[in-house]
Amino acid sequence: MEFLTVDMFKAMLREALCEIEKREDEFSRLDAVIGDGDHGTAIVSALSAAVKAAENGAEFKSMLSDIGFGVMLETSGSTSTLSGAFFLGMANHASGTELDAAGIKTMFSGGLANVEKQTRARIGDKTIMDALIPAVEAMQKSVSADIRELFKAAAIAARQGAEQTINMKANYGRARNYGERSIGYADSGASSWSCMIGAFAECIIK
Ligand SMILES: [Mg+2]
Repeated sequence: MEFLTVDMFKAMLREALCEIEKREDEFSRLDAVIGDGDHGTAIVSALSAAVKAAENGAEFKSMLSDIGFGVMLETSGSTSTLSGAFFLGMANHASGTELDAAGIKTMFSGGLANVEKQTRARIGDKTIMDALIPAVEAMQKSVSADIRELFKAAAIAARQGAEQTINMKANYGRARNYGERSIGYADSGASSWSCMIGAFAECIIK
C-alpha cells in the first residue's frame, strides 16, 4: 500500500475512538493511581471531537487543522492541549489529499515537534511521550514504501514504550508528588496514545 488517503485517515480516527472507548475505564483507573482519574473521559472526548471535526475534511492540511482546533475547543485539560497540538503540528506538515511514506513521516514528526513545544516531558518521565516519541522514531526508521509497515512499526514501538512506563516513577506534573506510588502501574496517557497508534495500524492493516 503506497498512499494514505483522507478517507483512510478518517477511518483510522474512528477506529482509534472505538478502541479507546473500550478501554475508557482502564485509562481512568490508571490516572486515578497518581492523578484525578479523568483520563479515560478526557481521551474519549478528545477523540470524539477529532472524529467529528474530520467528517467534512477533503484534504489533509485543513482537515488536521479543524481536528486540532476541534479538540481544543470541545475539551480542556492537558489531554486536550497535547492532542490538539499533535493534530495542529501535523496540519503544518501535511498537504494534498494523499500521502506517501515520506509524507506520513513528515506529518507525524510535525505532530511530535508541536507536542514537544507544549511539554518538557521526555522519554522516562512516565507520560504520553513514552509512547509517542518511540512511535514517531520507529516510523522515521522504517525504510519501507509500504505505509502499513510504517504504522506497524509505530504501533509496536508505542506499545513497548507504554509497557515500559509500568516500571517508571512519575517525575512530571502533579503525578511526581506521588513518587514511588506510581511504580507498578502504566501511565494512563502513554497507554491511551499507544492504544490510538495501535488502532491506526490495525485499521490500515486489515
Ligand atoms: Mg487526569
